[in-house]
Amino acid sequence: MKFYFKNILMKIILVVLTLFNFSYTYAEECGLVVHGSDMMKFDTNEIHINKNCEKFVVNLKHSGNLPVNAMGHNIVFLESNNLQKVISKINMSHGIENGFMPEMDEILFKSKMIGGGEETTLELDPNVFISGKEYIFICSFPGHFALMKGKLNI
Ligand code: ZN
Repeated sequence: MKFYFKNILMKIILVVLTLFNFSYTYAEECGLVVHGSDMMKFDTNEIHINKNCEKFVVNLKHSGNLPVNAMGHNIVFLESNNLQKVISKINMSHGIENGFMPEMDEILFKSKMIGGGEETTLELDPNVFISGKEYIFICSFPGHFALMKGKLNI
């Protein structure tokens, strides 16, 4: 009888530990905070997307003070091979609300463009990214992609 209770207790402890560990891992790997600054930079140049996540949430924060029309930042995900095609379409005429880009199939995910002190959230479907292909993220404010880009690690 004593052994039986000990066994149950051990099982409960294991379940609690597993649940805790699972939720911790989930929170760590299925989302990320990326900061953009007045220095025209992201604070990361590589994002790891876990394909096991149902969705991957990118929280973009602008840690600077400059307004969106002067130093706006967004985060745009695309295949590396399409970079030249996408940046060639970046133009002020498309408007800040569209990230200065036309509608294009090559743009996989695009966040809202924000100014200093603001933040926005973008949900990605990890299934869109195919293992073996190369993907990157950029800021599509005209001229920013030269400094504001990084690669995805799928
Ligand atoms: Zn930017």
